[in-house]
Amino acid sequence: MNHTYHVETKCVHSGWNPENGEARQIPIYQSTTFKYNSTDEMGKLFDLESNGYFYTRLQNPTNDAVASRIADLEGGVAAMLTSSGQAAILFAILNICEAGDHMICASEIYGGTLNLAGVTLKKFGINCTFLSVDCTDEELLAAFRPNTKLVFGESVSNPALAVLDIERFAHIAHEHGVPLIVDNTFATPINCQPFKWGADIVVHSTTKYMDGHATQVGGCIVDSGNFDWEAHSEKFPGLTTPDLSYHGIIYTKKFGKLAYITKATSQLMRDLGATPSPFNTFLLGMSLESLPLRIERHCSNALAIANFLQNHDKVSYVNYPGLSGNKYYERAKKYMPKGTCGVISAELKGGREAAVQFLDHLQLASIATHVADAKTCVLHPASHTHRQLTDEQLVSAGISPGLVRLSIGIEHVDDLIADMEQALSYVTLI
Ligand SMILES: *Cc1c(COP(=O)(O)O)cnc(C)c1O
Repeated sequence: MNHTYHVETKCVHSGWNPENGEARQIPIYQSTTFKYNSTDEMGKLFDLESNGYFYTRLQNPTNDAVASRIADLEGGVAAMLTSSGQAAILFAILNICEAGDHMICASEIYGGTLNLAGVTLKKFGINCTFLSVDCTDEELLAAFRPNTKLVFGESVSNPALAVLDIERFAHIAHEHGVPLIVDNTFATPINCQPFKWGADIVVHSTTKYMDGHATQVGGCIVDSGNFDWEAHSEKFPGLTTPDLSYHGIIYTKKFGKLAYITKATSQLMRDLGATPSPFNTFLLGMSLESLPLRIERHCSNALAIANFLQNHDKVSYVNYPGLSGNKYYERAKKYMPKGTCGVISAELKGGREAAVQFLDHLQLASIATHVADAKTCVLHPASHTHRQLTDEQLVSAGISPGLVRLSIGIEHVDDLIADMEQALSYVTLI
């Protein structure tokens, strides 16, 4: 795709250029396997000597078209789709980390990633140091060890809505010879392009805004192609020394800028699975066409509702990086000048009771454990995601009993505000 095109154009055209008489929409290659005329042709594929499809766990034309669309949106050189966002994060890490290694991770991240990095990867011998996105340079520098292999953070974090100073984190990671991996799920490439600020790898849960209609769970890893693995060869032997499972090929030598994604596909996807279904990928590809329009609406609706809630006398506090008083307002303006995302959190003055009254009286917004969907949904962490915690434990986890999380959809904003207004009228302040 022509790299001078705007992101709106790429969303519609990247990854699929039909020839004369071919399908206009990305076709669904719902096939596990692909046929060849000679043993030799097929053998070359197994040796990574020629390009082509043989088994959908490794590569599939529908998956490749959509992966290449997302790579283009992020301004990367290659991408790999996975069956979930969690799988994308796991593979992005395992591609360069093994037992005995260490990573640094922002502490304001998605709960699933927090468990992955803090609990499950530890059992694999990979240790993680968590640091707030607001840590000082000194604290960040002090976290590096000789076996540190990467730094990880979310551009806009789920659910805290903290904004990562991508340039600062990338700079310090590079000074230590390791890449910065950014989870760009909430901002999407429409609002934030982490590669422009020095991030090396981007991961996504495509389940969220990219899909946007609550239809498929999926993930994606995108490589900028900018990190020089060979310059830090001693840290990344998996990329820069022979892979015995492929007759000793060296990924950086054979694939250059495509080394990281080729290794993730031909080694990790081969051995661990987590391949998306081509049908799910088709849905994702189609949803990407309208991503810029939806994101614009999500953000303008969220800002209007954040302002409405902030001025409401039954609301004590609103957290949205697009509000001028927000802690991350300036940083968000720098990295996401068009807006951040459609998720807001707000604290009701009446605490737990008030939050429950508010949610139970909403008619248009639905109660759902999901975010980043066209349909507005709400969640009460104290009753749902963090239900097992006492009020004291909630407060120490930074979640007050009266906190509600709202994922603002693309409905007409007046209807959403009217719904919230009537639901708030039932809230009693004792
Ligand atoms: C949802 C989410 C994930 C996990 O993605 P799944 O597709 O649910 O596996 C990872 N990171 C962020 C920021 C998320 O919001």
